[in-house]
Amino acid sequence: LAAEEGFDFDDVDGLDGAAHVRLPVLAVVGRPNVGKSTLVNRIIGRREAVVEDKPGVTRDRVTYEASWNGRRFKVVDTGGWEIDVLGIDAMVAAQAELGIEQADAVLFVVDAKVGATDTDEALIKIIRRAGKPTVLCANKVDGPSTEAEAAYLWSLGLGEPYPVSALHGRGSGDLLDAVMAALPEAPPQTFGDAAPGGPRRIALIGRPNVGKSSLLNKVAGEERVVVNELAGTTRDPVDEMIELGGKTWKFVDTAGIRRRVHLTAGADFYASLRTSSALEKAEVAVVLIDASETLAEQDTRIISMAVEAGRAVVIAYNKWDQLDEERRFYLEREIERDLVQVQWAPRVNVSAKTGRHMEKLVPAIETALEGWETRIPTARLNAFLGELVAAHPHPIRGGKQPRILFGTQAGTRPPRFVLFASGFLEAGYRRFIERRLREEFGFVGTPISISVRVRE
Ligand code: GDP
Ligand code: GDP
Repeated sequence: LAAEEGFDFDDVDGLDGAAHVRLPVLAVVGRPNVGKSTLVNRIIGRREAVVEDKPGVTRDRVTYEASWNGRRFKVVDTGGWEIDVLGIDAMVAAQAELGIEQADAVLFVVDAKVGATDTDEALIKIIRRAGKPTVLCANKVDGPSTEAEAAYLWSLGLGEPYPVSALHGRGSGDLLDAVMAALPEAPPQTFGDAAPGGPRRIALIGRPNVGKSSLLNKVAGEERVVVNELAGTTRDPVDEMIELGGKTWKFVDTAGIRRRVHLTAGADFYASLRTSSALEKAEVAVVLIDASETLAEQDTRIISMAVEAGRAVVIAYNKWDQLDEERRFYLEREIERDLVQVQWAPRVNVSAKTGRHMEKLVPAIETALEGWETRIPTARLNAFLGELVAAHPHPIRGGKQPRILFGTQAGTRPPRFVLFASGFLEAGYRRFIERRLREEFGFVGTPISISVRVRE
């Protein structure tokens, strides 16, 4: 069975993060050659999903948008990862598991002409464990003569088998009706799906007095009035649209920046609440640090909050105008010693007072967002992992040597990797992998998560 370690970001993007509202997601699951891609083509009504006759053709999980009776949903084809890396059963199981995890309902496809195989049985176990609504498709029922075979599939215990010919379209209407009944109307909103194409969302965070409000005023080019600040009646956070580098950006929750939190009891608590709520809404965090003072524990805590929230991160050292040679020397040491956890974050040295290096802010933010959205194709990732494992195998522990069998990027914003391994991977080895992943693929400005699933 599968064991999991490492931490996951809880806001898995709806697989491509490209819709205004989060659409329900249907995972199409089945062993190779049962007709998943053909069926996906049928469902989306286009010839987009590539159908290959050979099993084992390298293909990443792909998501398509579809609609039926006016309801839109997403279809994920879980077919076709490299077969030679794991045994075929393990490979099919691994991809199904990941597909199912991120789906609201499952369409399980069986070849009615072949009947249920051991691989099908293994898949059913995974589906059961996931506990998601499931529709059973008995495919390749091209005519009435094969319908009896479909009926045998009642024995799988997944309810009514819907006889379908993905190739000719037969029975697909009834199948889709059943799928729509299984999918939730409005799945829970996840962060990753929020308005694409709209302004990117920036959280400007940092402990009190580092210069957040000064920086905001500087970039906004004027003192702006916060409309919601009427006599403290409303505590609604306010977002501000600010044009920078020819683009509009949304600075989220700026009321909390402009409202001076006086140093009374509980101020830290409110500051920390504001930081979380801003992070919640943002894609990228600009963490402001006062360069003229020694790095405080509160600074590193705020950085950790951004990293743990899974946001892209830019570190901005403010008040650079106040630096003398000595402070600069110590600052470099501090960065090396105390900011190792975010070595990957772009750094800018600015002054909200003089306007120094303001123009460097936008490129840093854009770089971080780019890293945050990077997706490595499965084939490329596995080629890289293969070389890495060959050159630097995991140390032998208790006579055993855990091996990475296969890996995939399960999500972006931030990048999230799942490695399938033959045994527990030590933390040091996981960090080594992260380091090498960053060397190879960049991921500037973004946290990445690596979780390991152990296959026995
Ligand atoms: P996948 O590996 O599960 O994605 O399967 P494909 O969609 O690539 O289909 C595998 C093979 O089965 C292809 O040669 C398809 O043309 C064929 N096929 C798919 N659906 C049907 C069907 O309903 N009837 C028949 N006769 N063949 C089908
Ligand atoms: P906030 O609490 O993070 O919003 O910080 P403020 O923007 O209110 O700034 C706190 C203090 O630092 C104010 O007195 C600012 O004038 C000052 N300050 C902000 N940015 C700079 C800077 O770049 N250089 C200098 N010398 N002072 C700054």
